[in-house]
Amino acid sequence: MKDHTNCVVTPIVKADGFDPLGVAVHRGSTIVFRSADEYANRAKRGMDGYSYGLYGTPTTRTLERKITQLEQGARTFLAPSGQGANVIAMLAFVGAGDKVLIADSCYPPVRDFATHDLKRLGVAVDFYDPISPSALEHRIDDRTRMVWCESPGSTTLEVQDLPRIVEIAHRAGALVGCDNTWATPLNYKPLSYGADIVTEALTKYVSGHSDVLMGSITVSTDALAGPVRGLLGRYGIGVSPDDAALVLRGMETLPVRLAYASESALQLAQIFRDHPLVDRVLFPPMPGCAGHELWKRDFLGASGVFSVVFKPDVSAHLAAALDQLQVFAIGASWGGTRSLVAPMQVRSNRSETEWTDDDLLLRVSAGLEAREDLRADIERLLASLEEKNLPQRLPVSALDGTRYMLNNEQGE
Ligand SMILES: *Cc1c(COP(=O)(O)O)cnc(C)c1O
Repeated sequence: MKDHTNCVVTPIVKADGFDPLGVAVHRGSTIVFRSADEYANRAKRGMDGYSYGLYGTPTTRTLERKITQLEQGARTFLAPSGQGANVIAMLAFVGAGDKVLIADSCYPPVRDFATHDLKRLGVAVDFYDPISPSALEHRIDDRTRMVWCESPGSTTLEVQDLPRIVEIAHRAGALVGCDNTWATPLNYKPLSYGADIVTEALTKYVSGHSDVLMGSITVSTDALAGPVRGLLGRYGIGVSPDDAALVLRGMETLPVRLAYASESALQLAQIFRDHPLVDRVLFPPMPGCAGHELWKRDFLGASGVFSVVFKPDVSAHLAAALDQLQVFAIGASWGGTRSLVAPMQVRSNRSETEWTDDDLLLRVSAGLEAREDLRADIERLLASLEEKNLPQRLPVSALDGTRYMLNNEQGE
C-alpha cells in the first residue's frame, strides 16, 4: 500500500493479553462489517449488537450494564444529562390524550418540561401531593399513562410511599417512573418496589467529580426497553464514550464517597438543627423530614444533601452570611467532591401543595473535605447570621429559652 493509504488504514494490533482494570474508551461513529451480508443484516443485531456509534459502544454498554445491575432492572440507556433522562423516560411512553401525574416536589426543570412541552404535545399534566397517596388516588383516571415520582423530592426532600403509589398507578393502568438521583441506586432501588422506570442524574454522585453531565434510564422489563431505545435513536440522542469512561471511573469510588458524605451531612445537619435561628432541617435520616419513617423502611442509606429552613426573617441575611464561607462553595449540581451550598426558593415551584414555611431554604451538599473544616465553616455561617439577627430584632418565637444565650456566651 502507498503511504497515503497506510496513514488512513489502521492496522489491527493484538489486544489479547492486555487486560487493564480500567474500561477502554471506544470512540466511533462508523463501525465496519466483515461482509456485505453482515452490513445488510445489521439491524438484526439486536440491542446487544453494534451497528452505529450513536446506538452504543462497548464503553457506554459497560456503564449501562453496571447501572442495570445496581438498579436490579432489565436494561439501561444513557442520556446526555439527568434532565435528558427524565424527559426521555416520559416522552417514550406518553402521547396526545394521555395524562401524566407528577409529584409536586419534582426537580423544577421537569415541571418546566411538563408544562411547556408535554402540554404542547397534547398530554394533560397534573401535579399531586408527593406525601399523600390518597390525593394521588383522587387525581388518577383511565387516561393516566404515567405517575412520576422523585423520592426524596428536590429541595424539600419528601420521601414518597412508592409501594403504595405503584399499587394505585398499576391498578389504573399507569406506569410509574422515579427520579432516584438523591439516593443513587446504591441506597434506593425503586424498581424493587414496583416502579417501571428509574432515572439517575449520573452528573451528581455516580460520576462524582462535577466534571461531566450524564443521565440514565433503567427499565424493569425488556418490553419497556423498545420504546426508549427507539426514541433515542430517532431523536439522535447518545453520549460520548469519553464521558462514559469518566462516569465509569467515578463509579468505582461511589460507595466510599457516598458513605463519607452522608455521615458528614448528618453531623452538619445536627449543628443546624440545634441552632436557635433554625426552624427545621429537611433530611430523610432525621425525624421531622416528611417521610422519615418511609426512608427507614425502604432506603439502604442516605446521601450528603439536606435543606435548612430558617426561622422567620433570618433568610433575609443569608446572602451576606454565605459570603463568609471559606470551605463550602456556592453552587448547584451537588454530588461532587466539594461541599456546596445554594439558596433555593420553594413556593414558585409548587402548584398542588402549599409551602407555608420561609420561602428561601439553604440547600447543603456535604463533599469530601475534612469534617472539622466543614463544621468550622458552618459555625462561621451561623455566627454571621447571629450577628445580623441580634435578639432584640428577632421575633419572640425564635428565642428558644436559654440556648441562644448559651451559644453566644461560648463565642460560637
Ligand atoms: C440535578 C438533577 C437532575 C438533572 O441532572 P443534570 O444532569 O444536571 O441534567 C435531575 N433530577 C434531580 C433530582 C437532580 O437533582
